[in-house]
Amino acid sequence: MSFVSHVECTICGHRHDAKQRLAVCEQCGQMLAVRYDLEGVRAAVSKDALRQRPPGMYRFRELTPLDDGEIPVTLGEGGTPLLALPRLAAHFGLRQLWGKDEGQNPTGSFKARGLGMAITKARTLGARGFIIPSAGNAGGAAAVYAARCGLPCAVIVPRATPPAAVAEAAIAGARVFTIDGTIATAGKVVARVAPEIGWFDLSTLKEPYRLEGKKTMGLELAEQLDWTPPDWLLYPTGGGTGLVGIPKGYDELRAMGWVSGLGPRYVAVQGEGCAPVVDAFRAGAETTTPVENPAMVASGLRVPSPFAGRQMLTILRDSGGDAIAVSERAVAEAQRLLARLEGLWTSPEGAALVAALGSMKDRAQLPADARVVIMLTGSGIKYSPPELPTPMDLAGTPQDVHSQVIAALSRA
Ligand SMILES: *Cc1c(COP(=O)(O)O)cnc(C)c1O
Repeated sequence: MSFVSHVECTICGHRHDAKQRLAVCEQCGQMLAVRYDLEGVRAAVSKDALRQRPPGMYRFRELTPLDDGEIPVTLGEGGTPLLALPRLAAHFGLRQLWGKDEGQNPTGSFKARGLGMAITKARTLGARGFIIPSAGNAGGAAAVYAARCGLPCAVIVPRATPPAAVAEAAIAGARVFTIDGTIATAGKVVARVAPEIGWFDLSTLKEPYRLEGKKTMGLELAEQLDWTPPDWLLYPTGGGTGLVGIPKGYDELRAMGWVSGLGPRYVAVQGEGCAPVVDAFRAGAETTTPVENPAMVASGLRVPSPFAGRQMLTILRDSGGDAIAVSERAVAEAQRLLARLEGLWTSPEGAALVAALGSMKDRAQLPADARVVIMLTGSGIKYSPPELPTPMDLAGTPQDVHSQVIAALSRA
């Protein structure tokens, strides 16, 4: 049974019928969000009943937009572990630090949640193909879920997109285009092409369902922390689907009486080379200003003009949160630190959060007993490898090789 009541504009409140294919608010052009009959959800499901269900994104079916009997297009997304990070915690003088390892999703990033949900709904509502502007991972995920349901897909990415994400889209049969510029440049092309060819435009937050997929990170987190929100939640911010989606999940659970108390305080983390949300937050602005010539190795954070800028800033301020920009160098160091201390090779976007923890600690923002969660949004394996010690070449007779290994290891 579906508990969706309607789809509502996040700015002007205009109501839309959820039975039609929707993009942005038909009144004011702003971002839409799905609303639920939360009383009904509360009456239909208990925490105990939830505990019996298999893991994964659709465990929270009543809080998803799935219709009665609607079968999702799925590859098993969600259900990612919340890993305690005791050695990293000690490094920062903390006692309670967790990382949600979204790199374990299909496609190696949390984009699987959002695109899986968006494509499920668009297909049900009659989409015949998909087109998406992307910084990399979203395009790969769109292509994969389009393949999974047998529909065509086109992806437009900036020239400098990590090759693995491009390959992921191409091997799934998508038509991939690269363009000079950023995801914003690609977005303009998509906005014109989509109506002409009749394919569905999957641009970030320009349809209401990707957000519902990303929201499931918040629902899972709430359950994994036994319904007590963390004090701080750090999120690597590009288009902001998670930064808007996770609070939406917590708000719905709070309205159902499933979580109590305050929190989390949300922290948007961006790279110094492209930090529109951080800049606007610091300036006290209501919305973001487009960044000229954005630069950042963490491609997911190279979003110069996020559509949901206003909504993100409201969430940061209302939660008593913060916004932090980190340097490229700090990200590279943090990526190695996390791998060395905890064995997690996370994407540069996730590593940016580890760098931000360093800044928060320097500013004495984090007492030792603070409960902190970092959203490790993707796997490092999808990016060009960072600079690392080169492997040692072994050569010669078996005895030579033996001595080379022993000599090298006894120096360690
Ligand atoms: C897309 C992406 C981000 C940014 O996410 P938004 O929801 O667009 O803010 C962060 N990390 C990774 C790995 C991504 O692919």
